[in-house]
Amino acid sequence: MAPVPRKLLDTLEERERHLREKISERRDALDVAARPLDPAGDVADKAFGRARAEVEHDLIEMSLKELAGIAAARERVANGTYGECIDCGEPIAPARLAVNPTARRCAECQAQHEKVSSAP
Ligand SMILES: [Zn+2]
Repeated sequence: MAPVPRKLLDTLEERERHLREKISERRDALDVAARPLDPAGDVADKAFGRARAEVEHDLIEMSLKELAGIAAARERVANGTYGECIDCGEPIAPARLAVNPTARRCAECQAQHEKVSSAP
């Protein structure tokens, strides 16, 4: 495996920083949305607050999953397996990594994987 391009590492780092910021913003938004409203507030307000809190919660979960993917990618960088398909061991196309730096499989194996399971 050729050395991992610096640009890809930068992309991972940037994405991670961005996600951490987003997560902290969303946690703040979640606090606000989950805060008990004025007891005199109407039912629609309360329902809106709950729906908003649920959306923020889901977005946080998604960001956390992506962060985990980035951490795993960094681990593969550290042990020299970054850019190798975890299924067939072939190098993942650089174009694919450029778009999706946390990709663990080549395009063919990913398509195959998605056919048999809905897990990432
Ligand atoms: Zn593969």
